[in-house]
Amino acid sequence: MHVTFCAVEAAPFAQTGGLGEVCGSLPLALAKKGVTATIFLPRHKSIDFKKFSVETLDRHLSRTVLSPKLDVYFIEHDYFRKRDGIYGDGHGDYSDNLERFQYYCAQVLKVIVERCLKTDILHCHDWHAALIPVYLQEHYRHSSLSSVKGILTIHNMAHQGIFSREKYPHLHLRETLHSPHYLEYFGQINFLKGGIVFSDKVTTVSPQYAKEILTKEFGCGLQGVVRARPEPVVGILNGINHDIWNPATDRWIVQRYTPKEVTEGKSVNKARLQEALCLPGGRDIPLFALVSRIVHQKGVDLILDSMEQLLGMDIQLVMLGTGESRYEKQIRAFADRHPQKLWAGFKFDDSLAHQIYAGADWFLMPSRFEPCGLSQMISMTYGTIPIAFKTGGLVDTIQPFDAVGLKGNGLLFEHFTKKDFLHALRQAITLYRDQEKFHALRHNALAADFSWEHAAKEYIKAYQCLLSA
Ligand code: ADP
Repeated sequence: MHVTFCAVEAAPFAQTGGLGEVCGSLPLALAKKGVTATIFLPRHKSIDFKKFSVETLDRHLSRTVLSPKLDVYFIEHDYFRKRDGIYGDGHGDYSDNLERFQYYCAQVLKVIVERCLKTDILHCHDWHAALIPVYLQEHYRHSSLSSVKGILTIHNMAHQGIFSREKYPHLHLRETLHSPHYLEYFGQINFLKGGIVFSDKVTTVSPQYAKEILTKEFGCGLQGVVRARPEPVVGILNGINHDIWNPATDRWIVQRYTPKEVTEGKSVNKARLQEALCLPGGRDIPLFALVSRIVHQKGVDLILDSMEQLLGMDIQLVMLGTGESRYEKQIRAFADRHPQKLWAGFKFDDSLAHQIYAGADWFLMPSRFEPCGLSQMISMTYGTIPIAFKTGGLVDTIQPFDAVGLKGNGLLFEHFTKKDFLHALRQAITLYRDQEKFHALRHNALAADFSWEHAAKEYIKAYQCLLSA
């Protein structure tokens, strides 16, 4: 089976968050199971061609081979090559994102046909690639791609690719498709909607989120479009790549540890982290951490609302992330006032993220909504206990700790309120002081299996089901 991955981010080439991590790891996991995979990426400026031995095929296309079963093609254009960011810069999204991602989608199909590349499935990710299933149905039904199936995976319903109606001619689609049944959305153009309507199958990244996007609260205006599909959206939980996220082999951390060595391993990493971030040392003080985009979705405002009380407790807090400057400013002000308790860094720093996962005791993830979430899975793999709001993939991966039966691997709070969040934080501090319970909780977290194995099997099932339909 040949599967072509269409995504604008994929690790290790280009990544801003979970999407890139998934689109880098899933093709590898599928290739290990015998699927031949090809990834199509835009050639972003940040991609180091030398490092990845990329060869230029022509003015429009480059390629590298990652393994006998995995090729990566790069769509070349100034739209990507000459931009610092993938989606935008410090001033916001690029104003020509419709043209940029339309070009990417059209070009992927053109290259596959012109180069006679084998493919059975086009697996498209998020709105940037969502025009591919539209073009497949509209322009390629009578071509060599006539039997190819299109799958769309929604990683985040909140990002849809909405553009003004005036730009519709750039899409090179029939005028009649700009209607409520197809790509039109309140008078505008909606890429994601087009993908949902035209794909042969739609999946999302956790079973809980697959249910949530049918509701007004989480459907972001497209709940009706999702409900109108002939078959339900399938929720397949993401995994994490244990070649990258593994405390026993992690090259970024000062002391590596297996689950058996977790107490000693974490204590050494915690001491080093405190030292590196100029926080007072001490293993008795619980260390809370956040590694995240600093945005509304991630509940940063809830942390800020609770910050006075939080910093009044006997804890330390480390916050690493990039995002909205209004939040960064407020966090910075708290950090300046409480340098002994709060360290904040506003940058994307892979090695520091590894050190934080290894050195912290608790991981904060109060996301308002969370399609899947990788950070809670990573933190558990390092024996760092997540505290999260009961939503999306957090529900599928975190079982609330039962202090009597000693079952469960994290803390989930029920309502998105300061009261419930602070209650969970106080519960965490109490648990941390009870070594027996905390050890049980930590071992439960370490025992969870978040490898890609399960997800790869589920995707293969979905592909096979489509191909035999
Ligand atoms: P998202 O919604 O951002 O995709 P996920 O939890 O699915 O959230 O994935 C976030 C990934 O990005 C995690 O691997 C996390 O460690 C990483 N990450 C987020 N911010 C930073 C940062 N500032 N520095 C390093 N890694 C980060």
